[in-house]
Amino acid sequence: MTDRIKDFLARNRDDDGPRLVVDLDVVRENYLGFANALPDTRVFYAVKANPAPEILSLLADLGSYFDTASMTEIEQTLAAGATPDRVSFGNTIKKEKDIARAYALGVRLYAVDSEDEVEKIARAAPGSKVFCRILCDGAGAEWPLSRKFGCAPEMATRVLERAHALGLAAHGLSFHVGSQQPNPRMWDRALKTSAAIFRDLAERGVQLSMINLGGGFPTRYLKDVPGVKTYGQTIFRALRRHFGNRIPETIIEPGRGMVGNAGIIEAEVVLISRKSEDDRRRWVYLDIGRFNGLVETTDEMIRYPIRTDRDGDALGPCVIAGPSCDSIDVLYEKDPYFLPVTLEIGAKVLIEGTGAYTTTYSSVGFNGFAPLKSYVI
Ligand SMILES: *Cc1c(COP(=O)(O)O)cnc(C)c1O
Repeated sequence: MTDRIKDFLARNRDDDGPRLVVDLDVVRENYLGFANALPDTRVFYAVKANPAPEILSLLADLGSYFDTASMTEIEQTLAAGATPDRVSFGNTIKKEKDIARAYALGVRLYAVDSEDEVEKIARAAPGSKVFCRILCDGAGAEWPLSRKFGCAPEMATRVLERAHALGLAAHGLSFHVGSQQPNPRMWDRALKTSAAIFRDLAERGVQLSMINLGGGFPTRYLKDVPGVKTYGQTIFRALRRHFGNRIPETIIEPGRGMVGNAGIIEAEVVLISRKSEDDRRRWVYLDIGRFNGLVETTDEMIRYPIRTDRDGDALGPCVIAGPSCDSIDVLYEKDPYFLPVTLEIGAKVLIEGTGAYTTTYSSVGFNGFAPLKSYVI
């Protein structure tokens, strides 16, 4: 919790929450942290984490590049002042119509993981640079991205050869080690695979020049995580190990690590009840749940720190749930959450680390609950 956010909440009281407040000073610190920890790496902010115009403008001013997944994200990024040469169309699943639109706006960097996607890009964005995403299992990550994106290494070789044959620039490779990845050594195996693909393609006359190291850099929730410096050093050592003195150009795509700890949600306790007289656990219902911002509590994967005005009092086990009339709108139940026994209906609670993946995941109004309000200060 920063003093600026504390101040904002105190001076702008609001009983029609919940609301997210993001402190731009923290986003700036995070950007500079990445730039210092990985000095030879370009930073492509993953726009989906939080596309608030103030965040995009700040990052554009700081010199950031942007990883986008749709036309809307590309337009938001350009509107914030980024030039199209600083935009990557990083989704491997794109309509050909959208590739053509992005190309018309000047975007020249595209992600692929299949030959058919390469064909689309060759037709709609001739001569552009493409990078091929390789599969990465996301082991150890708290929000794994599993098998939806990427292809096997042998296929990546074929995909990039095809790109080269069709007149595209076979630029490089990308992978994502899983979001909220607490282990910086997870980049090692993907870099080993990448180096082998670089060698394979070089033998076939195709010179790759770039590795996109993806996102995965964590933010702090309840557990401690290594700092960005540790990630930088560990990744640099892995690059040395597998590429020797010929380290390719590298980029990273932080989302959560850029904005997660910059935001706090203020929510309200709507009801505290028990299911029977002898129920040991209280049910604490908040005015925020899965449908208005906290989707990442799915399967209780992301466990947010929750602060109350009674912190320091004795704690008791709670099930925490959202306000909507859907039974999946339960945040924590399997692994109960301990909250002060003195917590009362109507109290405000602060949910920390909520700058990433909250506003954009909020439904347009399930059960009539409004999308999450957002203030960027
Ligand atoms: C979502 C996404 C990211 C950001 O991941 P974080 O774990 O939030 O840093 C980066 N790259 C791609 C391609 C993504 O889809």
